[in-house]
Amino acid sequence: MAENKTHTEMIHIRQLHKSYYTEALSLHVLKGISLDIEAGEYVSVTGASGSGKSTLLNILGILDTYDAGDYHLNGTLIKNLSERQAAEYRNEMIGFVFQSFNLINFKNALENVALPLYYKKVSRKKRNIIAMEHLDRMGLKEWAHHLPNELSGGQKQRVAIARALISGPKIILADEPTGALDSKTSLEVMDVLTGLNEEGITTIIVTHEQSVSDATNRIIHLKDGMIEYETRKNNGVHDTIQPTYIE
Ligand code: ADP
Ligand code: MG
Repeated sequence: MAENKTHTEMIHIRQLHKSYYTEALSLHVLKGISLDIEAGEYVSVTGASGSGKSTLLNILGILDTYDAGDYHLNGTLIKNLSERQAAEYRNEMIGFVFQSFNLINFKNALENVALPLYYKKVSRKKRNIIAMEHLDRMGLKEWAHHLPNELSGGQKQRVAIARALISGPKIILADEPTGALDSKTSLEVMDVLTGLNEEGITTIIVTHEQSVSDATNRIIHLKDGMIEYETRKNNGVHDTIQPTYIE
C-alpha cells in the first residue's frame, strides 16, 4: 500500500479530532492533534487520566476511527481504507501491548503467542516453531506450555510482547504496559521495549509513570485532548521543545 505515499514520516497526523457520542451527550476527546513521528522513534504519551492518551493510541493503531483531520500511517491515508483493508494494514504494521496483558486464559503461552499466525492460516507446526522462537527471545522457552495464571505479571507481559512481535510489525503500541507491574518488573519490561526500539521498531508507549516516559527519547504530553508540550532527550535529559508541528 505504499504506492501513493504522500508523507515520508511513519506517522503523520494533522488536526485530528475525535468525539464519543452517547445517548445523552457527546464528549470531544481529541481536539486538533498534529504530530509527526519518524520511523524508529521511541516515544511516550503522557498526561492526566482522561486526557485522551488511549483514544489517540487506539486511533494510531487503527483500532478506532477519527472524525476529522488526517492520519497517514507510512504514507497511507487511513480514512480511505475499507474496514477489511484497515484490518489487514493493522495486522501488517502494528503490534499491541496492553496493561492487562489480554492473554487468553485457557491457552498456554505458546498458543497465545501463535494466535496471530492462526488467523493468517499458518500451519500449526510452522506457527508453533515461530512462536517458540519468539518466546525464546523473551527468555520464556521453559514456560511455553504453562497457562497465563501460572506466570508472573512480568512473564505475562513478555508473552504479550512476543505475541505482538510475531507478525513482524513496524510499530509497537503499548498502553500502560507497566501499569499492572511492580517497579522491578516494570524495569524489565521497559528493557525489553527499549531493546525492540534499538532494533528499529517504532515504539510508542502511553504511560503515567515518569520512570517509563524518561526511558523514551521523546515525550508527548496531552492535556484535555491537545498537545500541551513535548520533550526530547538530549544527553540523557528531557528538554522541552516546540511541538514538531505547529499550524
Ligand atoms: P486516557 O487514556 O488519557 O485516560 P481516554 O482516551 O481513555 O483517556 O479517555 C478520554 C475520555 O474519553 C475520558 O473522559 C473517557 O471517559 C472517554 N471515553 C473513552 N472511551 C470512550 C468510549 N468508548 N465511549 C465514551 N467515552 C469514552
Ligand atoms: Mg488510558
